[in-house]
Amino acid sequence: MIRNRATIKGIVQGIGFRPFIYKLAKKWQLTGFIRNNSFGVELEVQGEAEAVESFFHELESNPLPLAEIYSIKRMILPPIQETDFEIRGSKTNENKYAFIPPDMSICDDCLRELFDPADRRYRYPFINCTNCGPRYTIIKDVPYDRPKTSMAVFEMCPDCSREYHDPEDRRFHAQPNACPVCGPHVELFDGEKRKISTADAIAETVRLLRQGAIVAVKGLGGFHLAVDAENDEAVKRLRQRKYREEKPLALMARSIEKIEQFAAVSENDRRELQSPRRPIVLLPKKKSNTISNQVAPKNSFYGVMLPYTPLHYLLLENEFLALVMTSGNMTDEPIVIENDEALRRLVKIGDYFLVHNRDIYLRCDDSIVRTVENRTMITRRARGFVPQPILLSQKYPQILACGAELKNTVCLTKENQAIVSQHIGDLKTEESYQFFLKTIDHLKKLFDIKPEIIVYDLHPEYLSTKYAQEQALKNKISVQHHHAHILSCVAEHNLQGPVLGLAFDGTGYGTDEKIWGGEFLLVDGAEFSRLAHLEYLPMPGGDMAIKEPWRMALSGLFQAYGEEFFDLPLPLFKKVPSEKQRIVLQMIKNKFNSPETSSLGRLFDIVSSLLNICQRATYEGQPAIMLEQHAPKGIENFKIYDCSYQKEDGKYIIHSTHLIQNIVRDLLAGESSKVIAGKFHQTLIEMFTDLTMALSRETGVRQIVLSGGVFQNIKLLSGMVKKLSEKGLEVYFQEKVPTNDGGISLGQAEFARRVVGKR
Ligand code: ZN
Ligand code: ZN
Ligand code: FE
Repeated sequence: MIRNRATIKGIVQGIGFRPFIYKLAKKWQLTGFIRNNSFGVELEVQGEAEAVESFFHELESNPLPLAEIYSIKRMILPPIQETDFEIRGSKTNENKYAFIPPDMSICDDCLRELFDPADRRYRYPFINCTNCGPRYTIIKDVPYDRPKTSMAVFEMCPDCSREYHDPEDRRFHAQPNACPVCGPHVELFDGEKRKISTADAIAETVRLLRQGAIVAVKGLGGFHLAVDAENDEAVKRLRQRKYREEKPLALMARSIEKIEQFAAVSENDRRELQSPRRPIVLLPKKKSNTISNQVAPKNSFYGVMLPYTPLHYLLLENEFLALVMTSGNMTDEPIVIENDEALRRLVKIGDYFLVHNRDIYLRCDDSIVRTVENRTMITRRARGFVPQPILLSQKYPQILACGAELKNTVCLTKENQAIVSQHIGDLKTEESYQFFLKTIDHLKKLFDIKPEIIVYDLHPEYLSTKYAQEQALKNKISVQHHHAHILSCVAEHNLQGPVLGLAFDGTGYGTDEKIWGGEFLLVDGAEFSRLAHLEYLPMPGGDMAIKEPWRMALSGLFQAYGEEFFDLPLPLFKKVPSEKQRIVLQMIKNKFNSPETSSLGRLFDIVSSLLNICQRATYEGQPAIMLEQHAPKGIENFKIYDCSYQKEDGKYIIHSTHLIQNIVRDLLAGESSKVIAGKFHQTLIEMFTDLTMALSRETGVRQIVLSGGVFQNIKLLSGMVKKLSEKGLEVYFQEKVPTNDGGISLGQAEFARRVVGKR
């Protein structure tokens, strides 16, 4: 007989960890107790030595899916008189603010009950338990307890209450516990706000979807717009009404087997699809499938998720191969969360509205992930992830980092935790800006953070910058955009010492007031120096040059050939009215409304336009995405272009004009656009590796950090990670937060810590 005490540090509260341990202790016939404390849980177990070992072995080898265990410290104690294992209340010194769980997908036990005719929650769309269900999106305040959630208005019936108070029950302290007798319900409305009288609103919704209707469905973190994904006409109508031209629409399918009928699922994809976070996973399309071409036109991937609420499972029970489940909003606006709001803002899109009376307190979009080299990369971090903290190696002061402008997130820090908010989106719409304000307030409250420092982007026109400047707090600092990109990756990997950062993205305000985005930075905490960058090219029309990549192509051609470039027989000239081309050329020559940029994103735009792959971006990054997909597999075997860099005024300038000339020569010689796209990618990989090696030799720095939105390009990222590792360098890229501007806020917070540390 032995007795052990264990303190477990990590993210283990509010995700059913104590009941999980309780069951495990029972299984091995151990006595003792478990309770929460301020850094995780502590427990004592007593029993046969072998059983105690098995208990810990199972705990470590097979933890709960959402638990993140950082350490388990064990101690031997003398056995005591004891007959049972119990879940105890928290110690009084518990920090009640420490852990707010994310929303979790319905668990297997609840799913079984949902379809069990004998169960009292048979087909009840709000079934949940301690292991699953809504959390972050229904919490109004702390401590996380039912009265502080939007479930407060539902008084539990005696049956639910009994479960809630029974430590042996799976619903012990499950705050959103409910049943058909006492809990929320669904209702179906038409576009005129008339309630549809039906005995089964879900069955009626399925019938309407079958007929091609667009139905706004209230979910966990907001509304979705649902249509039958095989119905071409319906999907087309959805696109028109939503003003969404070509950006792919997310799909939801009942099972992996169904998904495999239209997309390829790797081992890591499967793990991500099935995880309780239930993100949208980007999956390669299968060649012949029955999904409407309207779902993801001109794209070789689908974004797919499995159902994550009981309501989704009921909708997808047996009728559909997949439903389009796109966020319920007009393009560029934040997702709708309230019933009235849905009937107001979505009335021009939805034919019907399937709503319920469990309020969503805080909006949270679906997260998006993608597999890279068997690892998971996060493109959008929201539902299922937020507000789980990123654990840091150092103690931080309390910081508010305001993020960037597009794909905005904010980050708050406290001790060794960084809480990165859910994806907020483009701050330029009024709704998004309100959402930004609410999220800051909410996270401050939930985590009891009173920021001592505010940090924001150097860009004077970002709304997040203006917000920061308006705050009364004295201690405010700005940080250069790409410096923050690199520090974001430094923070998530807990890197020490200087790093060589490759920050590649579309747009970021530089210290010379030009637009940066193809940067090699030596970053040492609060300091950075710019060692190399792409040569500057004018962006005729500013933001218009992002929407119309042919403008950038003219800019690159002008820099490479002068005005004579019009004599070249290039396909792109036939695609754009020549009058427009003349005007843009004038803008370039007169430097009128043509800010200069060193952005790699823009170089992708240029090549995409030269190859006539994309002349108009209907969503952010489209030309680059299409160019990546256009390049064939096995690019490492392609011959690369000649592309030089040269030291000028102490830093290397990469001559992209040189590269453009080579591509034009190939194009005019009749080389296929696929081969050119492949050669372009491989040229970048080899040239960047070469330059990185040179810089590493010059500086003696061997830690290489890759960050910025361009690294969403998997061909570029994988190629560079491989090449640089082969050369013996240590390479890091972003895995816990997005590599796009969604990860900026974490880097800003890291910057603020370093600045304060130096003072
Ligand atoms: Zn459950
Ligand atoms: Zn009940
Ligand atoms: Fe960026």
